[in-house]
Amino acid sequence: MKEFDYIIIGGGCAGLSLAYELEINDKLKDKTLAIIEPRNEYKKDKIWSFWKVSPHNFDDCIKKSWKNFSINIPGKTNHLKCDNYPYQSIDSGLFYEKITCKLKENENIFFFKDLKEINSKNSFIFNSVSSLKKDHRNLWQHFCGVEIETQNNFFDDEIFNLMDFDCEQKESVHFFYTLPYSKTKALVETTWLSKMNDRSQKDYDNQIKDYIENFLNLKNYKITYKEEGAIPLFYPTYEETKNKINIGTAGGMTRLSTGYTFLNIQEHSKYISKNFENISKAKKFEINKKYQFLDDIFLKVLEKHPEKMPDIFFKMFKSSPKTVIKFLSNKSNFFEDLSIIMKMPKWTFLKALLK
Ligand SMILES: Cc1cc2nc3c(=O)[nH]c(=O)nc-3n(C[C@H](O)[C@H](O)[C@H](O)COP(=O)(O)OP(=O)(O)OC[C@H]3O[C@@H](n4cnc5c(N)ncnc54)[C@H](O)[C@@H]3O)c2cc1C
Repeated sequence: MKEFDYIIIGGGCAGLSLAYELEINDKLKDKTLAIIEPRNEYKKDKIWSFWKVSPHNFDDCIKKSWKNFSINIPGKTNHLKCDNYPYQSIDSGLFYEKITCKLKENENIFFFKDLKEINSKNSFIFNSVSSLKKDHRNLWQHFCGVEIETQNNFFDDEIFNLMDFDCEQKESVHFFYTLPYSKTKALVETTWLSKMNDRSQKDYDNQIKDYIENFLNLKNYKITYKEEGAIPLFYPTYEETKNKINIGTAGGMTRLSTGYTFLNIQEHSKYISKNFENISKAKKFEINKKYQFLDDIFLKVLEKHPEKMPDIFFKMFKSSPKTVIKFLSNKSNFFEDLSIIMKMPKWTFLKALLK
């Protein structure tokens, strides 16, 4: 069976981002790489959105970018600006096409459907496949979104809605997220932060229909695309091995308090590429420990007091948007962290810390 210098298991966001980063930095000129990906074809299956706090390779895959956003709780709306760090949405269809075209130019890169097709014994492995089960004891961010199209102008495409908590909470944390791509097109998503043990939360289609028709008061529209997913709000546990690095969600690249992963994957790919020649000895790349610590407390509060979360998120955004964005995107300094912490209900967080 054929052997390769490197293997990437999973040609999804992290696997392809890494292969692309290695390719554009000429790391695979004299080395062979096998990418293991079971899917038969690449097509749009996700929209990745984030505040652009650091450069990435996919500006040409951006569907839309915004400099204004809002957050709602019943009876209150906060309009905010994000000119310093625009919020970007990447179309995964364009992303897959760009990367697969680029990788085809290198004869040292091969795609396989199953790891069993090659001999992996002597290769260095980058693994993006996790064996996480939808365990009911853990917290997940689970969601379903639809892209809709209207006949007449309906949306204000200058501003997106990050969180609209003015909806049924069912003793969990629930919000709607709306990204207007144009005056006639938008992604509307129902999102839950919960343990996924309440089946009624998964009635996504009805929730979205009700929100669009009765809350947004939009009757005439058609659904053009649908995405559904669940992001683990806990870190996967793996044995560390000498010749293997986990990447993507499997590599702990999700910021647990937000579910944002895309930009962390890009930074991890750049780190691996920079240290590629000595990768087995490089320090493990991870989300800064201070965020791991703060998110742990945050999620404890979320689990114990879901009813307080809409207000907590709303209050968090009372700090300057630039500070909150930096905090949620792992870029804040000590004073910015402090300014966010001061906005939180101190006694509730202190009790969670001491638990
Ligand atoms: C619907 C959805 C929307 C999201 N939106 C955002 C967002 O807006 N912003 C953000 O920052 N994050 C978002 N995320 C979180 C995160 O960015 C994505 O999940 C991202 O795709 C994670 O990349 P990954 O490479 O770890 O996993 P994936 O992209 O899922 O890649 C894993 C790959 O492994 C392949 N695979 C599966 N089993 C095997 C196997 N046995 N052997 C080999 N390969 C296998 C799969 O086919 C897949 O291609 C979203 C997640 C989902 C599910």
